[in-house]
Amino acid sequence: MAKEQKKLTTNFGKPVDDDQNSITVGIPGPTIFEDIHVAEKLAHFNRERIPERVVHAKGAGAGGYFEVTHDVTKYTRAKFLSKIGKRTEVFARFSTVGGEKGSADTARDPRGFAVKFYTEEGNYDMVGNNTPVFFIRDVIKFPDFIHTQKRNPATNAKDPDMFWDFLSLTPESIHQVTILFSDRGTPKSYRHMNGYGGHTFKFWNAKGEYFWVKIHFKTVQGIQNYARQEATRLAGENPDIATDDLYQAIERGEYPAWDVQFQIMKPEQVNTYKFNPFDVTKVLPHADFPVIPVGRMVLNRNPQNYFAEVEQSAFCPGNFVPGIGPSPDKMLQGRIIFYHDAHRYRLGPNYHLIPVNSPKGVMANNYQRDGAMRVDDNGGGGPNYYPNSFQGPEPQPEMAEPALEFSGKAARQPYVHPNDDFVQAGTLYRKVMNDEAREHLIGNIVDHLGNAQKRIQLRQTALFYKADTEYGTRVAQGLKLDAKEVERLAKMSQEERAKATK
Ligand code: NDP
Repeated sequence: MAKEQKKLTTNFGKPVDDDQNSITVGIPGPTIFEDIHVAEKLAHFNRERIPERVVHAKGAGAGGYFEVTHDVTKYTRAKFLSKIGKRTEVFARFSTVGGEKGSADTARDPRGFAVKFYTEEGNYDMVGNNTPVFFIRDVIKFPDFIHTQKRNPATNAKDPDMFWDFLSLTPESIHQVTILFSDRGTPKSYRHMNGYGGHTFKFWNAKGEYFWVKIHFKTVQGIQNYARQEATRLAGENPDIATDDLYQAIERGEYPAWDVQFQIMKPEQVNTYKFNPFDVTKVLPHADFPVIPVGRMVLNRNPQNYFAEVEQSAFCPGNFVPGIGPSPDKMLQGRIIFYHDAHRYRLGPNYHLIPVNSPKGVMANNYQRDGAMRVDDNGGGGPNYYPNSFQGPEPQPEMAEPALEFSGKAARQPYVHPNDDFVQAGTLYRKVMNDEAREHLIGNIVDHLGNAQKRIQLRQTALFYKADTEYGTRVAQGLKLDAKEVERLAKMSQEERAKATK
């Protein structure tokens, strides 16, 4: 709270004489229209809420910086990555995904991990999650998927049938489901989780050579998670625990940090590699694509005002800077357009003028004009069309990205690649998890899936079985399902399985 004593005024600066008594005629007496202070106060109050984000509604944010620690100019010409020791201001927002703005921070859910880098070449937004993969690989499925994680249209309650019906009919989700139901699905705080860009991105250097890159933010605080029972208890006792933790840690001067790493794939490896690098349900294994160190992000500034900075912050995976661009990942291709669309709806067409979203140290110059809340000089008296001969802003052809060649039919077509959806989920279960992690995974699944209808339990358990026979068998035992039936369903094609469990 500010210490300086300020004078109370209306929104238009008129001094207010009394903020405790509405104007009435007589005592008691009716209030009258001429009390414009009360009218303004109540009318503004009615408009305090802006549309809630449909996803990632509950979040916390903080400012800080990113510092380059290693030379990566071989891979990208992005200026903010051009020199060891170079610092760039950032604003980060962390969130849960499915719950409303007042929902519990400890819900089992992926966590959003979004970072805005205010670079000298414009804003670069890294809009990832605390999981390296996603449930689906084509954006056309996104609204359906999100509906199933929200509320039943009739009961308005969360619905395990909807949740598991969709996932069991969408086998590509099995990898993300396995991560979500591990204890990483209930991280202890926003400080104790990693961030992953998820998608593969195109990076290019000053010579115009390009690479496919995965981005990782590894927590310096170490991974820490809640076991399910504790997460459930805290959802009731302290639903804002992660929001508060981030704020208080920064207030104490314990600035959370993340080491940023890249995995690099050369263009010629795309067609021969065993996994499709543009399929966001897959990771690039570390053994084949070792991480290289890049820099460190430190968050050392709490927002002064939550609404101004955190609620109004708006990130878009399409905000790239020269040297970083999209890949043909079908989820990313959708996200780069529709995040902007969400913000135009939520914050308005000029949301880039809200201070937390504006580029810093670089002027945005173009021929877009007008619209609601155009609060800058709107281009002043400069030309509002291009081309022009009145010194309007000119394009910069030297900033063009290296061209990619594509061929093929324009059609609705699935990914074709010689691998299946179950390999990496199986590897995670067998090779990465230890006994305790596997036990928690099974317990977390049984506890949640057990609330769905039996036929849906069977269909989903068959997918766990396909990832790893022990994994599926243990879930079947926990749910008291017929293991032979699960095995039979696992051997069917997805279409046959869907039919058999209708
Ligand atoms: P590695 O053994 O080299 O990597 C395993 C990774 O798994 C580590 O990065 C670790 O992250 C992470 N991890 C550990 N426990 C869990 C968990 N419960 N849920 C999710 N991730 C966990 O093997 P590979 O690179 O070959 O990958 C094997 C599997 O590991 C993948 O199929 C995938 O499921 C998972 N994974 C892989 C990542 C990648 O980019 N290659 C990233 C994250 C997960 P940390 O080091 O931070 O503890």
